[in-house]
Amino acid sequence: MSLRFYNTLTRKKEDFIPIDSKEIKMYSCGPTVYNYPHIGNYRAYIFADILKRVLLYEGFNVKQIMNITDIDDKTILNSQKEGKTLKEFTEFFTEEFFKDLKSLNLLEPSKFTKATDYIDQMVNIIKKLLEKNLAYKSTDNSIYFDIKKFKNYGKLSHLVLEKQKDNASGRIKTDEYEKDNIQDFALWKAWDKKDGDVFWKTDLGKGRPGWHIECSAMSMTNLGEQIDIHTGGVDNIFPHHENEIAQSEGATGKQFVKYWMHNEWVLVDQKKMSKSYNNFYILKDIKDKGISPISYRFWLLMANYRTRINFVWEALEGSDIALKRLYGLYIDLGNDIGKISKEYQQKFKEYIEDDLDTPRALSLLWDLVKDANLSPADKKATILDFDKVLGLDFENVKKEIIPEEIIKLSEEREEVRKNKDFKKSDELRNKINSLGYEIKDSSEGPKISKI
Ligand SMILES: [Zn+2]
Repeated sequence: MSLRFYNTLTRKKEDFIPIDSKEIKMYSCGPTVYNYPHIGNYRAYIFADILKRVLLYEGFNVKQIMNITDIDDKTILNSQKEGKTLKEFTEFFTEEFFKDLKSLNLLEPSKFTKATDYIDQMVNIIKKLLEKNLAYKSTDNSIYFDIKKFKNYGKLSHLVLEKQKDNASGRIKTDEYEKDNIQDFALWKAWDKKDGDVFWKTDLGKGRPGWHIECSAMSMTNLGEQIDIHTGGVDNIFPHHENEIAQSEGATGKQFVKYWMHNEWVLVDQKKMSKSYNNFYILKDIKDKGISPISYRFWLLMANYRTRINFVWEALEGSDIALKRLYGLYIDLGNDIGKISKEYQQKFKEYIEDDLDTPRALSLLWDLVKDANLSPADKKATILDFDKVLGLDFENVKKEIIPEEIIKLSEEREEVRKNKDFKKSDELRNKINSLGYEIKDSSEGPKISKI
């Protein structure tokens, strides 16, 4: 078995062959810091983290860049609403984002890059595109990419070329738009009064960059003209990544990215979780319910990153209990760390190498903890080995995790309560108390804690 990833560009699983086997170059589209990301957004970062961990597990060095979009239509608009400078406004949400990444146990990228630190590099790419006649200045002094001049436009999102030529008759200045609105997109937006004091004076005139050029500039500056992997959510495929390809390949004449990888949406009531539908939750909502962000990570890993998943609180609470149970079983294994089971490790590799099959990897983890033929010490070593990829933070599991016995008693109590056997339910509660734990019934189910 070797590493195989689904490549959006070719629409199939392909063997992963790095450009340079010494170091994998990977770029992950990061957040636009105009608000708190919702938990659906975090699926993209958790997916990229698992991918990076798999590459590290396979023995590669990985250079991963993640951008922070601190200049675009939305950051300008929201900073003005709050009466703050763009810098102080975006710095606040950047810090909040970093805290969230920590609580989700993400490995830090090699570097976070802020778009506003790369204006010169963006200007240089745009100049190249102007020279090559792939871009033009419009009457309002904004600069647009001429998509009809780039013959591969549409190759990532698999747009039908002829159809797009018919439609592509105008220009679009906003950063986000739908496929049926394909037009020449803005590389550089000439200043207008809505931008207030947000502008740069450059060779291209007074203005600011479009969103898409930001990622091309940050990727090429830090990772070179060609990279192995670029990640993002499926909604980045069009127009963001399609436009990144046009700008980057237009400027260099080389293939920009070898493997494009995208995660699917998190849904709520079968609809995409999004700010525009107002059906979203942020990480704080999870913490406020007493659920660990790692349990959210665990819940996401139960599905393949390329399948849509429907978010419901009951499912997340279920995964919180399941993770606590795993922690409890892990604690029960004692302090000794033995040898990694080669047999389990082999299977684990087989699963994760197959386009990051985390659902099968997790069911293998359950098989492992229940396997009576392995010594506790070897189990412990193997769990810690798996966790290099899963990132469920077993290493830091503390003793106060609820023991398996207490969880079982609490489940038994739930069962008899459902059958209205309150006498038995009270007996079980007393037993749990006598073992040093208490149960509080809440609207979200019973909560167990140490007395
Ligand atoms: Zn991007």
